[in-house]
Amino acid sequence: MATTPVRRLVQAPFGALPDARAVELYTLRNRAGMEARLMTYGATIVSLTVPDRQGGFDNVVLGHADLDGYLQASPYLGAVVGRYGNRIAKGRFTLDGATVQLTVNDGENHLHGGARGFDKVLWTANSTESNDGASVTLAYASPDGEEGYPGSLEARVTYALRDRNELRVDYHATTDRATPVNLTQHSYFNLAEAGRRDILDHELAIMADAFTPVDAGLIPTGEMTSVEGTPFDFRTPTAIGARIDGDHEQLLRGSGYDHNFVLTRSGEGLRLAARVFEPTTGRMLEILTTEPGIQFYSGNFLDGTITGATGVLGHRSGFCLETQHYPDSPNQPSFPNAILRPGEEYRSTTIFAFGVAPR
Ligand code: BGC
Repeated sequence: MATTPVRRLVQAPFGALPDARAVELYTLRNRAGMEARLMTYGATIVSLTVPDRQGGFDNVVLGHADLDGYLQASPYLGAVVGRYGNRIAKGRFTLDGATVQLTVNDGENHLHGGARGFDKVLWTANSTESNDGASVTLAYASPDGEEGYPGSLEARVTYALRDRNELRVDYHATTDRATPVNLTQHSYFNLAEAGRRDILDHELAIMADAFTPVDAGLIPTGEMTSVEGTPFDFRTPTAIGARIDGDHEQLLRGSGYDHNFVLTRSGEGLRLAARVFEPTTGRMLEILTTEPGIQFYSGNFLDGTITGATGVLGHRSGFCLETQHYPDSPNQPSFPNAILRPGEEYRSTTIFAFGVAPR
């Protein structure tokens, strides 16, 4: 029987930036009907359409309907964040004996690459299509001194959509001077109907025996605390909402979950980091990564003031699971090294694997 060929890759204009540079939108499709829409502004996932247990397709990430929405108000919706995802205390650290001062854009700290991080720059794209699926590679050359970072950094992110409903994200970077690098994906997921209700009934498992507690400014204290007996124990699947409003100092500091988990690893390579199950639709998301940590952010700062493609983005209407090196690593000698040096290659891979489960 002849199978109808799938049009795996479609490129279309997605508007223009205020300085008139054109933004492109790439739509990747697989044989199972899954679709990923990506744009060159911020290397952003605009939408991800996946089946539920009845075969019904819905978008499972928060986003805007058009480029203007992203330019007006976007708390990193679907973007790649960098050069250093997450926080660096006071935007300052010592590297090879010299003090580096980055832009401060989150109270007194540096967050997600600064005032104009990788989420707010235009990437160039190259796409390919093969029997395995379609992929788009986005590239960005970050100049020496950008947001205070030392060295010119050549960064690349490849999104590949596979027929088994996996979106694979490969990051690559090189530099001509030592610099911290921590690239991650900032999609807000809602496996029910992106943005139409909160995410509190989603059942979450995180493969972590410990997390990195934070101070009032959400900067790690440097400790790695066991999750045992705390609301941070997600080693067995637990509803996100089950303990979120508990009287735990760390939850109060984060206004909910906004913490880095120390992934329990046995060896190198890609490992399962988290699994999320949404009971009404049966959708399941597994996240595999080569990274040592994952930031679980329960959408606490979404407050209904932004309207996205699927409606008002209400409190906790999406969650992020950002695979990463730990926050503030440049100031924490006991954390895994996040400094890239000339001649080295930064490589990181994360897979978002979608499926359904009976219950
Ligand atoms: C951080 C939050 C921050 C959010 C911005 C997350 O990665 O952990 O603290 O508010 O990004 O949207």
